[in-house]
Amino acid sequence: MSNEVEIEDHWETPTIAERHAHHVLCSFPANVVANSSGIVVLTIEGERGCVVLITAEAAEIRLPTTEWTKGAYAPRASTCFWRRVAVRETPSSYQKLDQVIEAAIAARRAEFQPCCFCHEEFPPEHMTDDACHGCASANRGIVY
Ligand SMILES: [Zn+2]
Repeated sequence: MSNEVEIEDHWETPTIAERHAHHVLCSFPANVVANSSGIVVLTIEGERGCVVLITAEAAEIRLPTTEWTKGAYAPRASTCFWRRVAVRETPSSYQKLDQVIEAAIAARRAEFQPCCFCHEEFPPEHMTDDACHGCASANRGIVY
């Protein structure tokens, strides 16, 4: 079942946050990962995108990261605050929200840099200086 069908079924009398989320879903390839108590959480384009936490009044845009909860043994997917924008049900407000989300995705993509050894691209939370964690261990003897 696609998200759109699910939304059509469940959102017959949508909350304001759901109406905001519906707009975002029409503009971006987003997935609904939470929807409860007037709060909708969307993910857009995974690790190279952003997470949007939507309420009736605002959208908080967060960027993916990894929390190294117990060193290298317990990496947990997380997010960090990027920007918060007020949202109203007007075309200009939704246009601004789209622009902020596009800027967040661009900011996240710009964080990815190529490893100097394997030349694959990694986000900063998976690199030490100019090397990915795997190559830094193999080539520089760094123990995580
Ligand atoms: Zn590497």
